[in-house]
Amino acid sequence: MYTDSHAHLDGKRFDADRAEVVTRAKAAGIVTILAIGNGDGPGTGTLDCAIKLAQQYEGVYATVGIHPHEAALAKPEDFDQLERLARDPKVIAWGEIGLDYFYDHSPRDVQQRVFLQQMEMARSAKLPIVIHCRPSDNSENAWEDLLRLVREHWASSGVGGVLHCFTGTVEHARAALDLGFVISFAGNITYPKAQNIRDAAGIVPLDRMFIETDCPYLAPAPHRGQRNEPAYVIETARRIGELRGISPEEIGQQTSHNFREFFGNSTLE
Ligand SMILES: [Zn+2]
Ligand SMILES: [Zn+2]
Repeated sequence: MYTDSHAHLDGKRFDADRAEVVTRAKAAGIVTILAIGNGDGPGTGTLDCAIKLAQQYEGVYATVGIHPHEAALAKPEDFDQLERLARDPKVIAWGEIGLDYFYDHSPRDVQQRVFLQQMEMARSAKLPIVIHCRPSDNSENAWEDLLRLVREHWASSGVGGVLHCFTGTVEHARAALDLGFVISFAGNITYPKAQNIRDAAGIVPLDRMFIETDCPYLAPAPHRGQRNEPAYVIETARRIGELRGISPEEIGQQTSHNFREFFGNSTLE
């Protein structure tokens, strides 16, 4: 039994065979998938994309939110729409939101403002947040800003959140754990150069971690370079299992249990 805590199932690369992708995931033992609802961003009519998928497929839940890449496109009416969408019973988290100083698709001050506004809205909606954090090359800039903003504007909510596709250092992981976050590991943990991710996966308590695909991106070895899909989350479980000296099935069970505990069994019925 596995849970893919972060999948962009709405992606166009799934348009031709989305139902088969979900069927393959179920056959492989992936019982729960969290569909990320950023869609193509504000103004494209897709901010409800994950809700539609959650209504269509059993075991699929939804988030809503504006990705830092598209922060500059956000208008007041988009926030109004998100506020309404967040009340849908299939929505269990707000995200992904955060900071991306690697691509800088939106100006950094705008990313921060949109991140802050969504933390405020998630707090009102009592929804955990799903965080995306990517610094510039050879820099900790986005981590420094993000951890500061979370410490000042979110930690006191007590609602917690998920640090998705963790790519930081052991110190970043410890700081996020201290702030009440769960750390989610993706397929890039299998990449040869990702020793920092494996180091972090070695210290995060087993009851504070999720696993995810971030599909269609970041396919794990041995599928690297192909389109990623939820069934491949097992490769991440396998790699963490090797690091921790336990089986992939146990990692799957534990992280699925963590997911249910974190979001609440009643929410996931
Ligand atoms: Zn992300
Ligand atoms: Zn993502």
